[in-house]
Amino acid sequence: NFMRKPLVGTSWKMHIHSIYRGEALAEAMHRSVGHIEAVDMFVLPTFPLISKVANKLKSGNIKWGAQNICIAESGAFTGEVPPLSLKELGCSYIEIGHAERRAMFGETDKDVYKKIRLSLEYDMTPVICIGETEEDKREHVGNVRVHTQILWALNGLQIEEMKKIILAYEPVWAIGQAEAASADYVENIHGYIRSIVEKEYGKDVAQEIRIIYGGSVSPDNTGPLTKQENVDGLFVGRFGLSSENFYQIVKTT
Ligand code: PEP
Repeated sequence: NFMRKPLVGTSWKMHIHSIYRGEALAEAMHRSVGHIEAVDMFVLPTFPLISKVANKLKSGNIKWGAQNICIAESGAFTGEVPPLSLKELGCSYIEIGHAERRAMFGETDKDVYKKIRLSLEYDMTPVICIGETEEDKREHVGNVRVHTQILWALNGLQIEEMKKIILAYEPVWAIGQAEAASADYVENIHGYIRSIVEKEYGKDVAQEIRIIYGGSVSPDNTGPLTKQENVDGLFVGRFGLSSENFYQIVKTT
């Protein structure tokens, strides 16, 4: 879509568990895709890696960010990471509500809501992960799950804020699999998500907001997925762990 610049991001999750390996990967990414201007790009390393990655990426077009953020600005929150520190590390994007955080760390829709507000307050773009589970899909309530997650996430956001956020549709059953969800399936849900945004915020916001897809994205399925009218980019997991694969995905987008 001509209105919406494509966006391709990757979260390294905890796959990269050495700072030195992460630094080397950031350098390789900088070399392979750092010059590209047609696609917006970001990398989300682990917290202790952020400053090293920032150092490698600062002169190119790849932005960086974090995989999580605290629900509060400061105080007695042992083990959490404050929004201001992330801002000071140059983070542009904050991933919020990934399926693994919801499932393994008990993150709720209300937590997601609080984290979005704080990211925006510190002028960092929230990448809001939504998507139905396998069980939701089997019971034909995937649309209810997605709708509920969106209502929580967008609650009270102003129109200007709406234009900054990224919605990442990640069906939980397609994460970490051999195959992504089919392009038709994804296009159908992305259209549904855009229609919810339109109902709440009107046509202009709905046409501007970027909705990216995540879940077993690879160089092979990038073409069919990004050809869809309502797919504005990709959120990559495993295939973002190699600069060659990431390059292929960005080039095909
Ligand atoms: C993810 O969990 O967001 C993801 C896209 O992972 P993968 O690409 O490895 O399925």
